[in-house]
Amino acid sequence: MKIILRRVTKTPLDFEVKSDEITFKGYLEYHGGKLILLKAKLSGFISKPCDTCAEEFKMPVNEDVSFFISDGIFEDDNSIDLDVVESFNGEVEIEELLHSEIQLIKSDYHSCDECKHSN
Ligand SMILES: [Zn+2]
Repeated sequence: MKIILRRVTKTPLDFEVKSDEITFKGYLEYHGGKLILLKAKLSGFISKPCDTCAEEFKMPVNEDVSFFISDGIFEDDNSIDLDVVESFNGEVEIEELLHSEIQLIKSDYHSCDECKHSN
């Protein structure tokens, strides 16, 4: 799902994409300047190796995600308190954003239930 950034207005633009067992559902809304606000919920399961026993397990995910997308280079003026993702071609691919969120979660430290209970 490709979004042309300059077409995003103050009226929230809903989106919903799925990847494997994860649903990424939320909206985009024009914030001001070059910035577009993204607010979404990430829910479902992510399969990843346990960081304790290396056994693959399914981790339940239920996370609120919010960040800004900048249409072009973003010059930080310290007035915003969210992460900013820059787009250099005037558009964003929601699937790509979902993919990087999944990578981010996978890179955190997580143990499977069995390891959690034995601690
Ligand atoms: Zn484990």
